Amino acid sequence: MDQMEKLVSLCKRRGFVFPGSDIYGGLANSWDYGPLGAQMKMNIKSDWWKRAVEMRDDMVGLDGAILMNPKVWEASGHVATFNDPLTECKHCHRRYRADESPFAEHWNEKTGFESAEALQCPSCGKSGVFADVSRFNLMFQTHIGSTSESGSQVYLRPETAQAIFVNFKNILNTSRKKLPFGIAQIGKAFRNEITPGNFIFRTLEFEQMEVEYFVEPNDWEQQFEAWNEWMGAWAEHIGLDMSRLHRLEVPAEELAHYSKRTVDFEFDFPFGKKELWGLAYRQDFDLHNHTEHSGEKLEYSDPDDNKRKIVPHVIEPSMGVDRTLLSLLVSAFREEEVDGDVRTVMKFVPHMAPYHVAVLPLMKKDGLSEKAREIFEYLQASFRCEYDESGSVGKRYRRQDEIGTPYCVTVDYDSLSDESVTVRDRDSMQQERISLTNLLDHLRKCMPYV
Ligand code: ATP
Repeated sequence: MDQMEKLVSLCKRRGFVFPGSDIYGGLANSWDYGPLGAQMKMNIKSDWWKRAVEMRDDMVGLDGAILMNPKVWEASGHVATFNDPLTECKHCHRRYRADESPFAEHWNEKTGFESAEALQCPSCGKSGVFADVSRFNLMFQTHIGSTSESGSQVYLRPETAQAIFVNFKNILNTSRKKLPFGIAQIGKAFRNEITPGNFIFRTLEFEQMEVEYFVEPNDWEQQFEAWNEWMGAWAEHIGLDMSRLHRLEVPAEELAHYSKRTVDFEFDFPFGKKELWGLAYRQDFDLHNHTEHSGEKLEYSDPDDNKRKIVPHVIEPSMGVDRTLLSLLVSAFREEEVDGDVRTVMKFVPHMAPYHVAVLPLMKKDGLSEKAREIFEYLQASFRCEYDESGSVGKRYRRQDEIGTPYCVTVDYDSLSDESVTVRDRDSMQQERISLTNLLDHLRKCMPYV
């Protein structure tokens, strides 16, 4: 099994991620996050929100609607240009993105395929049977109400960002922030991807954490650098394997039409180096277009000079929750040899781990269980705890290693008389005797960001 297969299997076996609609035979490329995956997504989002919004004076939050007036997507350019080049093997009818491997090197955005005869289908192996490239819009469409007249058609949002631009004026008026300031949002986005896959890397629905940071036009370079650093620092803080993270300065000829500079944060996934997050300088593209399409002036008055009105420029850090989780799983996964056995351990940083502490009575016995339960309830007020008394303690340690719990607190017969417990460290597997009066402090010191 390669690393990815092992991870997918661990995720299912331990309750991080299940195939979607499993009992009905699944739905391709949909995944349901189980108890541990749901908790980790929550950890990612709440840490991001804390650091991007709560701990800053220049940031506020928004929770916009998924369904928006369709004019939003005309103004943003999504109706006209949010599409991928699609080609299809005429033999087996598999569909591919023309701008992705193995077609990308034969494909030119302006002139199409250089020589279609040379193309071989990765699925059925036939050559020269590729349909012409068509553009495929990635937005999911649906209808409001009981009829499907054209007037009732809406889109599921393909990104969270547009709700921020649409609310720019509302937020400016109510929060009274001064430039530079930003608006953050976390929420679901939907894309009818041509080639979804690689587990939770590319799915049809996913969550984004996005910031639109509004700046004076001549201040963009400095603010871009600040967010570039912020994203790197956050990657380190959540325990990403930094040796797998690379910044790609997107070359000028590949920049989206609205962007003057984009840095892609790429990550070495087991299936290759791929985009994890993006950081883009979008100039005044969005505010300008929404002003034009809505007739509402989306501008900012200089508080020191009321006559000076400007359309702020925008720096956009855009980060996927699901891809972040996948990169954490990849970063944490280890197989270590211990006494001739392989131990699988997820070395999450404590603040990202599903549980901080597992409380385990040495055996399921009267006296021990009650004491352990008491300690569990006491620790629960400060940490995410799991209580487990089934099976041998060795097996329970292995399980906690596999789900990445940094500390196990074991209650044994001595605990009943000496008011102490054994604290086992996931990474070193060292055990230390700690008195109950010091337990909380000890665990707090071990897990500073919890
Ligand atoms: P890609 O080139 O991989 O399709 P993108 O450049 O279209 O990504 P953006 O539009 O910049 O992606 O979206 C911002 C972030 O949202 C991405 O960096 C990624 O983390 C996440 N994301 C985008 N599409 C998906 C998807 N289909 N599944 C999961 N996450 C996604």
